[in-house]
Amino acid sequence: MFDDKFVTMEIEKVKHIALVAHDGKKKDLVDWCEKNKDILKGHFLCGTGTTSRLIAEKTGLPVKGYCSGPLGGDQQIGAKIVEGQIDFMIFLWDPLEAQPHDPDVKALLRIAVVYDIPIANNLATADFMLHSKYMNEPYSRQIENFDKKVQNRVEMMKQ
Ligand code: PGA
Repeated sequence: MFDDKFVTMEIEKVKHIALVAHDGKKKDLVDWCEKNKDILKGHFLCGTGTTSRLIAEKTGLPVKGYCSGPLGGDQQIGAKIVEGQIDFMIFLWDPLEAQPHDPDVKALLRIAVVYDIPIANNLATADFMLHSKYMNEPYSRQIENFDKKVQNRVEMMKQ
C-alpha cells in the first residue's frame, strides 16, 4: 500500500532552474547569479520576464524568459513544474512588500512543495542549495501518486 502512495522523479545532474525575484529583491538575485555564474552555466535557466532579462543582461548566461510575474509568469513556471520541466527554484519573494499577484505567488510556492522540488526563498538557502552535493548528482524526489488517487476517486464515484 505504502509503495504505490508515492512515485519518484529524478532531478538530473543538470538542473532546470527557475529564477524569480520580486522588485525589492531583484538586485540581490542578479548579483547572486553573477557571483555563481560558473556553477549556473552548467544548468538550464529560466525565469519570470523581468528577472530573467536582468540576469541574462548582467551575466551573459542564457535564461529563458516567461511572462512577467504579475502577468502570469508565476503561473507559467508552476505549470512547468507540474509538467516536470522545472525541478529547482530560487524565488526571492519580498516579505516587506505587498504584491498584486499574491495568489499566484502562493500557488507557485504550493505547487513547488507538492512536486518536492528544492526551493530557496532567501540567499542563504540559495547558497546552501547551490553548494549541496546533489548539485553534482541526480536526486530522486517523491511525489504523491496522483494517478492512483484519481483512479481511486473514479472507482469511488462509480459506486
Ligand atoms: P518579474 O516577475 O520577474 O517579471 O518582475 C517576478 C514576480 O513578480 O513574480
